[in-house]
Amino acid sequence: QAHLDRIAAVDADIHAFLHVSERALDVAAGIDTRRAAGEQLGPLAGVPLAIKDVLVTTDMPSTSGSKILEGYMSPFDATVVARSRVAGLVPLGKTNMDEFAMGSSTEHSAYGPTRNPWDLNRIPGGSGGGSAAAVAAFEAPLALGSDTGGSIRQPAHVTGTVGMKPTYGGVSRYGAIALASSLDQVGPVTRTVLDAGMLHDVIGGHDPHDSTSLAEAWPSFAAAAREGATGDVLKGLRVGVIKELPDSGFQAGVSESFRTALGALQAHGAEIVEISAPHFEYGVAAYYLVLPAEASSNLAKFDSVRFGMRIDVPGGTVEDVMAATRDAGFGDEVKRRIILGTYALSAGYYDAYYGSAQKVRTLIQRDFDEAFAQVDVIATPSAPTTAFKLGEKIDDPLQMYLNDVTTIPANLAGVPGISIPSGLAAEDGLPVGIQFLAPAREDARLYRVGAALE
Ligand code: GLN
Repeated sequence: QAHLDRIAAVDADIHAFLHVSERALDVAAGIDTRRAAGEQLGPLAGVPLAIKDVLVTTDMPSTSGSKILEGYMSPFDATVVARSRVAGLVPLGKTNMDEFAMGSSTEHSAYGPTRNPWDLNRIPGGSGGGSAAAVAAFEAPLALGSDTGGSIRQPAHVTGTVGMKPTYGGVSRYGAIALASSLDQVGPVTRTVLDAGMLHDVIGGHDPHDSTSLAEAWPSFAAAAREGATGDVLKGLRVGVIKELPDSGFQAGVSESFRTALGALQAHGAEIVEISAPHFEYGVAAYYLVLPAEASSNLAKFDSVRFGMRIDVPGGTVEDVMAATRDAGFGDEVKRRIILGTYALSAGYYDAYYGSAQKVRTLIQRDFDEAFAQVDVIATPSAPTTAFKLGEKIDDPLQMYLNDVTTIPANLAGVPGISIPSGLAAEDGLPVGIQFLAPAREDARLYRVGAALE
């Protein structure tokens, strides 16, 4: 009730939610009944959960921020949602996002932007701006996001929250409306590292419905966070800092906060090691070919027949109906990427674009392999700037894309990454995050280090 009250009080301004559950209080009461009947419930039982609208739910519409899916009801729950329900979490509502998770500001939502609770004239990051804003504004204690190129970590950075992108394959993608299937991962957005670990424990682990789901057993991430908070895990920790990451393009307060955080790590016994990752900065260029290519294929299913909207064209052919529907249903950014993606995949251009991008992807993976032979984690600022103003980059896609320079390499390589708050930028008083990256499958290391620095 407290969270519903808070939503009623502030969400007209923030617009974090696309849909608020009418059933939340009933579900919460049901959990009390289960508890009273003696059922052993997990530590998050009864805790409300905001769910990014890219994740399908049976009891609330799932639009992925697009008009083409307006009102769409899924016949099944995403695995992460189903697991949350079993653990007794209470779905609170569906959160706003850039259409089909394409964007860094939530301004590409077909349902209007979300605003940053720290300053309503600024963006909450994207694509998962709704989940991060809901958590930052105390509308929800926990949220789920998805991260294809930074959509969990960058919103966390600009809203002063914690965002974790798990190892590729660590959390099921079943029921996450696909953007780029080789990059997409679902993960937690929370106010503390421990909260993120607890939620990750609930949603993670093998799922036979996702063919890329890793089969192995995972350690408890909540336990790792607790160990980090109490233990001496920073002593002797080798933290890599990428020497090629250009200093230009980073806002002064972001660089400053990063240096302060490195100082704190050193003060607790960590060793800062300069490493070389020469292909890291080409991640953006490779990503913005791989992503549109995969997205153009994934979005082909919105054909006016199988899902969502249909615009009838009297006397028209099937192709006419499909074209009219896709024209009316998709926004500009989605159309831009479908066109880029189909072009990059077309005969004659495939090797030059998609093929080259895949080679860069391999080089970035090798950079990570070599770096992790020398260090335990890599640290970067989570994004180049603090929250920018609404409208500032909306007409300049390249500026919007460059915002993802630090987050994208983790998706290209499949490694886990966490963004945790590192303070406020001196010049504007807005939140800044520090990102830690670890080798694939070492998610627990990020919870340990994150909780130790927190
Ligand atoms: N900003 C990135 C993009 O626009 C990230 C998207 C994401 O992680 N879903 O593609």
